[in-house]
Amino acid sequence: MLFAIRMSLRTNLRSNGIGESVQNEVHTKFSVLQILLFLVKSESWMAKRDERIAIMRHVAIIGSGPAGCYLADQLLRLMPDASVDVLDRLPVPFGLIRYGVAPDHQSTKLVARVLDRVLSRERVNFFGNVEVGGNVRLDEVGDLYDAVVLAIGATRDRRLGIPREDLPGVVGSGKFTGWYNTHPDAATPFLRDVRSVVIIGNGNVAIDVARMLAKDDSELVGSDLAADVTSRLMTQPIENIHLVGRRSTADAKFTEHELAELGTLKRARPIVADPASLKGDGAVVEILRRFAFETRPEKPVSISFHFNLTPAAFVGNRRLSGVQFRAPDGSMRQLNAQLAVTCIGYETQPCCGAVPSNGAFANEEGKVGEGLYVAGWARRGPSGTIPTNRAEAQQVAQKMACEVTGSNRPGGDGLRRLLRERSVRWVDYAGWRRIDAAELAIGSKDRCRQKFARLDEMLEAAEMVQFRSV
Ligand SMILES: Cc1cc2nc3c(=O)[nH]c(=O)nc-3n(C[C@H](O)[C@H](O)[C@H](O)COP(=O)(O)OP(=O)(O)OC[C@H]3O[C@@H](n4cnc5c(N)ncnc54)[C@H](O)[C@@H]3O)c2cc1C
Repeated sequence: MLFAIRMSLRTNLRSNGIGESVQNEVHTKFSVLQILLFLVKSESWMAKRDERIAIMRHVAIIGSGPAGCYLADQLLRLMPDASVDVLDRLPVPFGLIRYGVAPDHQSTKLVARVLDRVLSRERVNFFGNVEVGGNVRLDEVGDLYDAVVLAIGATRDRRLGIPREDLPGVVGSGKFTGWYNTHPDAATPFLRDVRSVVIIGNGNVAIDVARMLAKDDSELVGSDLAADVTSRLMTQPIENIHLVGRRSTADAKFTEHELAELGTLKRARPIVADPASLKGDGAVVEILRRFAFETRPEKPVSISFHFNLTPAAFVGNRRLSGVQFRAPDGSMRQLNAQLAVTCIGYETQPCCGAVPSNGAFANEEGKVGEGLYVAGWARRGPSGTIPTNRAEAQQVAQKMACEVTGSNRPGGDGLRRLLRERSVRWVDYAGWRRIDAAELAIGSKDRCRQKFARLDEMLEAAEMVQFRSV
């Protein structure tokens, strides 16, 4: 060892350009005592460094939607010494991929397979059926982990704030899409003898809702739309679906693919209520022009696009009968409807002491405060697509990798202890896989899976022995 130190001293002196004679002088003056001191110091420094590496960094991500899962993936890459626990209030992961993305867009839902691989990784633990703010408090999670990330999404429907918004027949898109995706919390909306529907909003969620209402049964083959939802939708005598935007065509947020798909439906025909309102160019306006001017065969359902109409009031006594709008010239217009779906965005909810402002958590590049971070819709509000969350996760993970230090906190072991003390049944990754296998097994020739609608069904499937081999 002494020899090695002498050699390294020589090499250093050489590389610093100091001559051979001086080296010898320094070498002889270097007493054994000094070398021993140096040795002790360097060894204790190395021991401290090893200790730092030996201390795992424990990160808890609250929310297993795309934001939470992509972040877990990035943290694993950037922090080889970290274990990452992903908590979700539901027994099943993937947030809006499972409960927002339309049931007939299974190719989009396939991204869940990629995220599933993240949850299956060795340094990741899934804790489903654990609600932060319900089963455990945020500060308790903070005490157990070196860093906590809020990736709880933003699923509370924004309100229009116009008269009679609570009439039966008026529903927010979060609730409506949750219902047709069999979210365990979603109530069945008021759907009775619906001939005319008004959908307020000019984004892709509005298009999803229109498409799900317009499709015929044969177009839903291969989806995971539940049987009771299918029969509810199919028994409505729908003739008109109005898609109404407050702004002009140039401001519409539709994407080309989703918009064009409306022109391919079997029993519905898209039209533009006022073709003169089509202003500007671009792919979306071009598709709308085709809808307005191309000759298409008559079909039982019409999907009419309206622009520049501001919602003013819902109308009806015991249930919705119409929606009033204000035109740019101040005149009022009423569209009759027995169902109105507002697709005007979402906001995130408070999580214990962490309270959002303007629908999202205030943060600096993903940091909310000491040891507390935020990602996804909870961070930036309800904008962007699933891949947007992946790009964002890279930035947040980089910040966390630099800032988070290990501190001997118990991480997942501590959480398990706490949950056991409180008799909380959490669902781990193997449990989720059993739920998944059970849902796939009870699918039919027309449905790729049959989702469990109730939490107790999910919990039961999570423990079922016959699926344990999956
Ligand atoms: C109706 C709809 C359709 C969409 N369709 C598409 C599409 O086709 N293609 C596309 O690219 N994007 C689509 N999106 C957007 C996409 O879903 C979002 O970009 C993405 O889901 C946001 O991810 P997130 O992880 O921030 O939130 P979420 O997906 O909402 O995940 C949040 C997770 O946090 C959990 N959670 C919430 N609170 C707690 C708590 N207190 N404790 C524990 N867990 C909690 C929730 O259960 C949920 O699993 C759609 C969005 C909606 C609303």
